[in-house]
Amino acid sequence: MAGLVAAARARELGADVVVHEKGDRPGGSMLLSSGVVWRFREWERFRAECPGGDPALQRVVWEGLDEALAWLESLGAPVVAGDDGNPRTRAVRFDPRGLTAVLARRAGEIRIDDPLGKLPEGVPTILATGGFQGDPELVRRYITPESLVLRANPYSRGDGLRLALTRGADLSAALDEFYGRNLAAAPRIEPEDFVALAQVYARHALVENVVGERFQARHWADVDVVQWTARQPGARAWYVVPDDALSEPVHERTIQDLVEAARQAGAPVERHDGSTRVEVVAGITATLGGIRVDERSRAADGLWAAGADVGGISTGGWSSALAAALVLGKVAAEDALE
Ligand SMILES: Cc1cc2nc3c(=O)[nH]c(=O)nc-3n(C[C@H](O)[C@H](O)[C@H](O)COP(=O)(O)OP(=O)(O)OC[C@H]3O[C@@H](n4cnc5c(N)ncnc54)[C@H](O)[C@@H]3O)c2cc1C
Repeated sequence: MAGLVAAARARELGADVVVHEKGDRPGGSMLLSSGVVWRFREWERFRAECPGGDPALQRVVWEGLDEALAWLESLGAPVVAGDDGNPRTRAVRFDPRGLTAVLARRAGEIRIDDPLGKLPEGVPTILATGGFQGDPELVRRYITPESLVLRANPYSRGDGLRLALTRGADLSAALDEFYGRNLAAAPRIEPEDFVALAQVYARHALVENVVGERFQARHWADVDVVQWTARQPGARAWYVVPDDALSEPVHERTIQDLVEAARQAGAPVERHDGSTRVEVVAGITATLGGIRVDERSRAADGLWAAGADVGGISTGGWSSALAAALVLGKVAAEDALE
């Protein structure tokens, strides 16, 4: 998202822009996402939810989001809903396909299958490669020795981070944190399963690893439990749900619906003494640590970064990656043009 936003905004300001896209299509993980762009309603809540984040950078995203959303809508990005039903947040839900199409049209020249191998000299460059979750070596180095299911586009492999370091950029805090979902442990998990197989009811379940050690899930978006699962043997866990919790609503479905989706996909689902056990695997969606940038999204001289390449916004919790990509993509373009 951040790259297309930056290109669209820079062109609007009169720049000649080339977007280098490593994948075989534009849109990255934004295209696979649920399209909910959100911020916490209150600034104090953002700070409390993501206490390790850089307050100045968080402020830029939080204060800039409403205007950035209005800009996105003015481009014709298709809104599906003006709310996501979460009382903590102000959210707009976009259709990810329509959003990608609108931004790609505005971004101008997009060179598909054309990764940026090295940084050009003397050309202002905005890095927006989407984090490093797709690179098993970086995930092992910073997050866990276990193998995680990649719940994101396959192209975001830390290229932005590596390029930024060659220019002397710094690392942000908390490279070991990530956002993701525990997924039903099905034999095959395809991109169209990323939402359907997410088992988002850890707070209603007893959570234990394969040797019976337990974890108490507390976070409303499951970031605590997925980060814990990632560090357990096999990056796996079991959710044990008592029968009387199966009718609990979660994300417009019930726990029973999610268990049924797991069973149908071939994941281990067992019945024991009035409860249901579902095996889950940790899925990584986006790294939360990365390149350190300032309030103008600057990473180094002549170099900006935006989106999940930037670390230090959600540290200690979770806030919308699409929101950060939108606001910092815009800020980076505006600053680069100055
Ligand atoms: C199933 C799912 C649901 C989600 N739902 C939400 C949600 O509702 N709300 C939310 O806020 N977030 C959500 N997310 C997370 C969000 O989609 C991503 O974190 C977000 O898209 C990150 O934006 P980005 O611009 O940094 O990366 P991306 O959107 O992934 O774009 C990065 C682009 O960089 C390209 N690239 C990588 N390396 C190179 C290179 N060397 N050269 C050139 N191009 C390169 C990639 O191919 C990709 O096109 C979801 C993610 C998934 C997978």
